[in-house]
Amino acid sequence: MNDNQRHIWVFTEQRGGALHDVGLELLSKARALADEVGGTVSALLLGSDVSELTDRLAGGGADTVYLAEDPGLEPYRLLPYTSVLEAMVSEHRPEVLLMGATAMGVELAPRLAARLGTGLSAHCIDLRWNDEGHLLQVVPGWGGGVIATIACPNHRPQMATVMPGAMKASTFPDREGKIIRVDVSPPMEDSGPQVVEIKTETPSELPLEKADVIVAGGWGIGSPEKWGLIEELARLLGGAVGATRPPVDEGWTEEGRMIGQSGKTVRPSLYIGIGISGVMHHVVGMDQSGHIVSINSDPNAEIFETSDTIIVEDFNKILPPLIAELKARQGK
Ligand SMILES: Cc1cc2nc3c(=O)[nH]c(=O)nc-3n(C[C@H](O)[C@H](O)[C@H](O)COP(=O)(O)OP(=O)(O)OC[C@H]3O[C@@H](n4cnc5c(N)ncnc54)[C@H](O)[C@@H]3O)c2cc1C
Repeated sequence: MNDNQRHIWVFTEQRGGALHDVGLELLSKARALADEVGGTVSALLLGSDVSELTDRLAGGGADTVYLAEDPGLEPYRLLPYTSVLEAMVSEHRPEVLLMGATAMGVELAPRLAARLGTGLSAHCIDLRWNDEGHLLQVVPGWGGGVIATIACPNHRPQMATVMPGAMKASTFPDREGKIIRVDVSPPMEDSGPQVVEIKTETPSELPLEKADVIVAGGWGIGSPEKWGLIEELARLLGGAVGATRPPVDEGWTEEGRMIGQSGKTVRPSLYIGIGISGVMHHVVGMDQSGHIVSINSDPNAEIFETSDTIIVEDFNKILPPLIAELKARQGK
């Protein structure tokens, strides 16, 4: 294992001074990986006036926080971020660079990897070392039936984007990180397309990743009218609605509700999956849930292998009386 192998870098995304959880989740994983090999963890923080976030990154596991502040780095823009990160990586040559598989990460990581001439594994769900000291990057692939384990032995850094929620954040209260200010030169304000206006939509309900109860529906629900039963059950349980891909493709619910490899990774205390077959693409996003209840009319449905409670039944026979009972108990 050469010396560089010990340096793991984590891009810690922020927007408007709000840190994305995935950065802290990745720092925690990076800390565990680094500790296994006596390595170091660095957080990369880009923005303008964001220095107050550095304590959280040090407390999240970073030995060093590289802080690049410049008015041109707020709001996020692809070209300035790529240029600054490329310069930092080229100067310090870390062995590993991790990013969240967020909208920002999936745009930034491939462009950066191409500029650095290295590989990138996208949407990873796990990371570990192999015996040669290479980072193994675990990705569900090819229709969901295969878990691919990818290594990048010949190029550096070894780059991966990781699904938000796939790792658990930890705090290390006694840790003090070193802050290294990065000279952003030339200034980034005039670099690349300018942002003219930002419109922010306020979510109408609790974000899926933060919900303690999720009621998720699949293709088996069959119609937008029946989808109303999923929404009603979620409402009565104080939870959020989740979905597999087909209900999103059909327009029964919005894209942000999708759970799985190309959607969100969730860990609610209670996950109720209804009319869902249990293809790996979906399961990788929900199998860390506390208690999994599945309703499926097929006794051989794959989802049952991941479930704590299974109900082999047509959901039409379960949901209307269940909803009526909950309404009665809640006096509705
Ligand atoms: C690259 C790639 C990425 C993908 N990413 C995702 C992802 O992130 N998330 C995701 O979910 N999918 C994803 N998919 C799609 C995924 O492969 C599956 O097609 C999808 O998850 C299947 O959804 P489903 O279980 O709702 O539908 P189906 O597999 O069609 O299952 C429907 C189930 O409903 C049951 N059913 C039918 N009628 C009833 C009834 N009346 N009562 C009870 N049960 C009933 C059936 O027995 C069946 O098990 C991806 C695919 C690809 C190729």
